[in-house]
Amino acid sequence: MEKLKSILIKHNFSLKKAFGQNFLTDTELLDQIVEKAGVSSNDTVLEIGCGAGALTSALAKRAKRVVGYEIDTRLKPVLNDVLCDYNNVEIVFNDIMKVSLDEIEKKLGGEYILVANLPYYITTPIIMRFIENAQNIKGMVIMVQEEVAYRLASKNSSSDYGAITVGINLRGSAEVVLKVGREKFTPIPNVDSAIVKITIEKDKFKGVDFNNVRNVVRCAFSSRRKMLVNNLMNTYKFSRAKAEEILTKANLDLTVRGENLSAQDFVLLSEVIYKG
Ligand code: SAM
Repeated sequence: MEKLKSILIKHNFSLKKAFGQNFLTDTELLDQIVEKAGVSSNDTVLEIGCGAGALTSALAKRAKRVVGYEIDTRLKPVLNDVLCDYNNVEIVFNDIMKVSLDEIEKKLGGEYILVANLPYYITTPIIMRFIENAQNIKGMVIMVQEEVAYRLASKNSSSDYGAITVGINLRGSAEVVLKVGREKFTPIPNVDSAIVKITIEKDKFKGVDFNNVRNVVRCAFSSRRKMLVNNLMNTYKFSRAKAEEILTKANLDLTVRGENLSAQDFVLLSEVIYKG
């Protein structure tokens, strides 16, 4: 904590709320995050939102290489200072939302682990972008608001379960690996957080047309309280008889709601809808 404060003072740096600059200072916690991410000396890590470099340093100690993205160019001197002992770190000063995934993956050059502690308004878009389109990602370890963590790791038929959970389960699985109280951040935010680990299973549902599955998922959650049969009729303009025939072919009960279906159920349902 004192170290962070003195570095920020030394560089005359003032935290910017709009960039969600709540920094971590607890070295034990930082090491735990790296540990949970399963980073080893063979790994390349993509860190999004480096801040004052506390997590970046902890990652650099363990990883083969760290590529970090940071939107705030005012952090250049701070990061140069904090990371001066590491020759395996490269920081790109850019808004991650403005860099194409192709460009990011080209820079990483192969498989990588994504680690991010970001402002909460961009965490979900980032997770979905990498889940849906990243080619070489092995896993993600992301700090999110505690309630979001439980949503991401929820099971079907629970009230937390939704389209984003299915999206994750189409490529792997998520678990909450660490709770992080608000007091661990400087300045202290008004919510508690948790670390979610998403493991990507290579070739899960290989050969499946994910665009079709995502359309069905969107349809199923378009009116969450409605039964799936009604959402199918609305979205695809099926007659009730046709929608019921589809559910039966997909081994689903006629009264199910979207929230009851596993990723596997969605895959089968989309095969029935799009391939007959
Ligand atoms: N990783 C540091 C830590 O754990 O202490 C900083 C975390 S802080 C919550 C989030 C960081 O993400 C800030 O440094 C902020 O400037 C940066 N950031 C915010 N939006 C970003 C974006 N779109 N692209 C890249 N970095 C971003």
